[in-house]
Amino acid sequence: MQGLMQDWPLLCHRIIDHAAIQHGARPVISRSVEGPIHTTDYATIRKRALQVAQRLEKDGIRQGDRVATLAWNTWRHLESWYGIMGLGAIYHTINPRLFQDQIVWIANHAEDRLMLADLTFVPLLERIADKLPSIERYVILTDAAHMPATTLRNAVPYESWIAEADGDFAWRSFDENTAAGMCYTSGTTGNPKGVVYSHRSNVLHSMIAALPDSMGVASRDVIMPVVPMFHANCWGLALTSPMVGAALVMPGPKLDGASVYELLNDYRVSFTAAVPTVWLMLLQHLEASNLKLPYLKRVVIGGSACPRAMTQKFQDVYGVEVIHAWGMTEMSPLGSLCSLKPEYADLSGEARLDIQNKQGHPPFGVEMKITDDSGRELPWDGKTFGRLKVRGPSVTRAYFKEDGPGILDEQGFFDTGDVATMDPYGYMQITDRSKDVIKSGGEWISSIELENLAVGHPKVAEAAVIGVPHPKWDERPLLVIVLKKGETAAKDEILGFMQDKIAKWWMPDDVVFVEEIPHTATGKILKTALRDRFKDHVLPTAEAAE
Ligand code: ADP
Repeated sequence: MQGLMQDWPLLCHRIIDHAAIQHGARPVISRSVEGPIHTTDYATIRKRALQVAQRLEKDGIRQGDRVATLAWNTWRHLESWYGIMGLGAIYHTINPRLFQDQIVWIANHAEDRLMLADLTFVPLLERIADKLPSIERYVILTDAAHMPATTLRNAVPYESWIAEADGDFAWRSFDENTAAGMCYTSGTTGNPKGVVYSHRSNVLHSMIAALPDSMGVASRDVIMPVVPMFHANCWGLALTSPMVGAALVMPGPKLDGASVYELLNDYRVSFTAAVPTVWLMLLQHLEASNLKLPYLKRVVIGGSACPRAMTQKFQDVYGVEVIHAWGMTEMSPLGSLCSLKPEYADLSGEARLDIQNKQGHPPFGVEMKITDDSGRELPWDGKTFGRLKVRGPSVTRAYFKEDGPGILDEQGFFDTGDVATMDPYGYMQITDRSKDVIKSGGEWISSIELENLAVGHPKVAEAAVIGVPHPKWDERPLLVIVLKKGETAAKDEILGFMQDKIAKWWMPDDVVFVEEIPHTATGKILKTALRDRFKDHVLPTAEAAE
């Protein structure tokens, strides 16, 4: 027997419809690429998204076509997403921080037909446009007054382009499993891989993201997604915010500490999210200028491990609750968030930080297991490391155009490439990426744990730990440090600080000080580059062993 409920497909444009009806006047404030602050609302965003859909159709874009965006977080980018999805086409966000060759590869692989790009990226696109034959038109996200002279094919300013559509248009209807969006993983090894979100997965993911133990957002919130829309589906915030009717503050191209602070303060942002590097810049700015964060209540920190010292500073000095989160592009992207279940809710001080250091527990819609290399499940004792595997309605089951062997195990779980522990209350803690874990004498050392510890030293700005070859132990940890501006420190000072806080055999065998640590396009430490740079580094312990 079938249920007798209505067939109401989970389509993303229903989200902007709901926002326009229920929260139509809620402000959407952006720092525009042109410079000034721009204010609009959900009702207007929906109206203009309808114009985008209608105008795209006029340009020959049809259901299933990929429309690329190379853009910062602004109201125009948001309208574009809804316009593209409402037509049944697919928004394909491209990360402008990738190497040019990667951008070319990705746009060609996706066979993007049209590209919406910010003014910032016109020079970049002009350099590579002759290698992008599938793109028939470039729409520059600006108005006629700011439109530069450009050689880009059929280039038009966005405002003039959508003005050619009156918005008298109905969203197209289709199956909820229709593709809605696309995002490529950075692919630190091999070519980038295309992850394809569906309307259904995006809608479900938005609901999962809004849950009280996830991001817990509501119409009373003012949300600032500092995480770019081109990074892992904007962590769901471009869909969750209108779904719950929260006001939005979009930071545009300026993500430095002073600019982020200005928006947090001027627009009374209550909730924000980004990678640790962004918060490092903000905290440095706050300290240098002796500022406070009176309006901000919660900050989601993920994308790479949130250092304990960062959680502590946000909470103890600024009164802002940190929600540590873990996820991946392949998971839409949320996998776990570290809210406190009743079992941990009464903890305080260091014991509370111990829990917040974990990446958290999966919400409904994400199932997890840890296994050994042969696929055997490992216990949830908070100590045993294993490969972290996940499944759920917003977890990828295949990559775009990859027909090789499947990426799921027999039970339908996807191997995240991360190594983690699970504790008895279901909290997951990443110990490493499987390729970054340091294998010393057959045992594993977590590079993340050592990094977290080292950045707790007051003179350390950033730390990375890599395994370097060792004649006796295979690999031993090397600690790479960037000191805070104007600081000097000796090796022993740093190692002394770490002593007694970790097992003796986890202690790094050497410390090197560098000016800068290289990062990936999504702000993670680029371990491959560090390993390459230090591949011939001779550890003091190696000499002794020989
Ligand atoms: P990209 O490699 O393009 O940045 P993702 O954003 O999808 O792609 O990266 C996902 C990976 O980032 C995860 O598999 C994990 O290794 C790492 N990661 C994400 N959040 C955290 C976190 N809170 N702590 C540690 N690692 C994290």
